[in-house]
Amino acid sequence: MAMKAGFSTLLLLIFISFSFSSKASQIIEDQQELPRVMILATGGTIAGVGASAIGADYKAGQKPIEDLLNAVPEIHDVAQVEGEQIANIGSQNMDITTWLKLSKRINEIFENDEADGVVVTHGTDTMEETAYFLSLTVQYDKPVVLVGAMRAFTAISQDGNRNLLDAVIVAASKKSEKVGTVVAMDSQIFTARDVDKTNTLRTSAFRSRNFGPIGTVFDGKVDYYYTSLRKPSHHFDVRDQVTLPEVDILYGYAGSRPDAVGFSLKFGARGIVYAGVGNGNFNDGVKEALIAAAQEGVVICRASRIGAGKVTLHNEVDDAKYKFVVSDDLSPQKARILLMLALTETDDPTAIQELIFTN
Ligand code: ASP
Repeated sequence: MAMKAGFSTLLLLIFISFSFSSKASQIIEDQQELPRVMILATGGTIAGVGASAIGADYKAGQKPIEDLLNAVPEIHDVAQVEGEQIANIGSQNMDITTWLKLSKRINEIFENDEADGVVVTHGTDTMEETAYFLSLTVQYDKPVVLVGAMRAFTAISQDGNRNLLDAVIVAASKKSEKVGTVVAMDSQIFTARDVDKTNTLRTSAFRSRNFGPIGTVFDGKVDYYYTSLRKPSHHFDVRDQVTLPEVDILYGYAGSRPDAVGFSLKFGARGIVYAGVGNGNFNDGVKEALIAAAQEGVVICRASRIGAGKVTLHNEVDDAKYKFVVSDDLSPQKARILLMLALTETDDPTAIQELIFTN
């Protein structure tokens, strides 16, 4: 009897250990089949730490990528994830050097087949600019998903953990294979070209004012509804660049002073984006200053402070006569990025206008 009990215990143990090890190897096998997502962290409110969970004061770019990942263990169920810290800053301090570093690293990741998709954690203030810059300089159409948070990592009801998980789901999804650079915030997916931060405080801050989101990520599932016909047609190769040509944005208002144009020229601007009123308009004094700048070879781009719609050629301004270009529907900050990149290749306004109309 005792021997029989011993034998069946042995059988039971063999069975348990077999089923455990086959389960473990199954998990490892599944794990190996999971898509590989590289998370490049740059800081922002998603890594921000507040004095209290309920107060509004906090400092962006404090928590390292490891803490962000440890806070969302579910990420490991959807992808094989690795994290790298590129910077840890509030995105108000994002700059050309960090853009170039980020873009070079992403190109290298795809070139070396280190990952199937990339997630970039980022502050929300300049996220749309980084997204557009990457869409124009990453040479691959694999997913690059920018994500951030409107509430600090330590805040009550923070949005960062959910947004990060969603961003990894988007980057890992088969449906995103050729999506290029997008922003995933608050369950929605936006193209880099069209998205803007449109609210200073709300968690639903991101919108594509002219055309809406292209998809959603909800309950672990990605759905795309539209694709853009204005994906970048030209990818700028910045892998050897250490800086970019200076382009300033000047802001128009009733009674705006022309002197700002001279200031930009004095400090070496090769291009000026004028965020004008309405359809990219400015007063006569500013117009004279811009004409003079264009005659000196500075590329002048008429944009708008409105935030929606587009700026069209030859309405109230004779663009052909003055060799001005227009921003189309790019925001002033995105027109600046395209102009900086265009100026690495040409300073011919006609060629630059063509780049703006096709990217
Ligand atoms: N100032 C912060 C940043 O852009 C705001 C945020 O991330 O929401 O880094």
